[in-house]
Formats: sequence, structure tokens, C-alpha cells
Amino acid sequence: NKRFEQSQAGDCVLMRSADTSKPPYVAKVESIEAAGSRGTNVRVRVRWYYRPEESIGGRRPFHGSKEVFLSDHYDVQSADTIEGKCNVHSFRSYTKLDSVNAEDFFCRFDYKSASGSFVPDRIAVFCKCEMPYNPDDLMIQCEECSDWFHPSCIGMTIKEAKKREHFFCQSCTAENGKTTENFHEATGQSEEKPVESKRRRR
Ligand SMILES: [Zn+2]
Ligand SMILES: [Zn+2]
Repeated sequence: NKRFEQSQAGDCVLMRSADTSKPPYVAKVESIEAAGSRGTNVRVRVRWYYRPEESIGGRRPFHGSKEVFLSDHYDVQSADTIEGKCNVHSFRSYTKLDSVNAEDFFCRFDYKSASGSFVPDRIAVFCKCEMPYNPDDLMIQCEECSDWFHPSCIGMTIKEAKKREHFFCQSCTAENGKTTENFHEATGQSEEKPVESKRRRR
């Protein structure tokens, strides 16, 4: 079996699901056992990665389309079900990929399959909506507070956000607005300072 020969302990692999309507399972090969005398019936001990929809809590809005969780669920499977290798990246390296291919996944949580709990059980949240980062969704970073925002949460289109070279969020603009208001009072103007004027001042 060519596929088996290419797989080694430590590899991440895609394994055919018995239900052909489902995507292949993602697993990490722990060890390879050749059961038959002529290398037949090769079996692999695997540690499953769970897709969000396979977890007890289900898929949540911040879960990425290529997100998987490293579970504590081990199994022994026939090596014949291995479809091929895949890459399970760390969250950080996944967000730095130039292009995401079909075999690219990322993992930022360990998953306890019996309790449905995650490690870590807390994750940083961003934006006004206070959601964890979903790498599938474009976000724009405020240059002042370094928080990240969804364009839709700040009344901006994705197109605008992509074009934007500099961005300051509402609360950072408002704080700065106080000084500007004072400044503007002296000149008889009191309207809110546009974002651009802050850029010029920096
Ligand atoms: Zn948001
Ligand atoms: Zn800000």
C-alpha cells in the first residue's frame, strides 16, 4: 500500500469516513503496526482531530472552516483508510500561510472528548462583538490600541477595510477627539475630528 508507505508516526493524515457523504477524518499517526506476515492488514494507531461539528458544543461562529481540535480519543484503524497526508498548523503559522490548500488545517485547542471541554478553556477576544479571532474573517487592526475589528462591526465594508492603510477605532478616535475638540474650539469648529487628521499628527 503506497499510501501507507508514505505515512510515518507523527504524520497528520486524512482517513476515509465510512459515510462517504462526510469529509475525511483528520488524524495524527501515533504508531504503525504491521499485523500480517507479509505486511498485510497494516493497522495504524491514530489520535483523532475533531472538527468543530464533531465536538459536543458544535461549530461556533469563531471556529475557522479549517479548524480542528486535537482530541484525547485514540483508535486503531486499517492503514487502507488513509487517503493521504495533511498539514495541521499552529494557529499562528496558519494565519501566515500565503495560500490555504485543501490539506491545510489548524489547531489551537486540545479537546477532551468525554467532557467536551477545551484546553485552553479561555481565549482572547477582539472587536466590539468580543469574539475570538476566526482566521476566515477579515479583521482590521487599530494602530492605537492594537485591537482587531470586523469591518461589519464598525460600519465598514470589506472592500474599504482592505484598502485602508491606517485605521483608528472609535474609542481611540474619541479619546483623541477631546484634545481636538479643544483645539477646534479655539478655531470655532467643534465637529468630530476625522481619522485622517490623527494620522497626520503622528
Ligand atoms: Zn466584531
Ligand atoms: Zn483603538
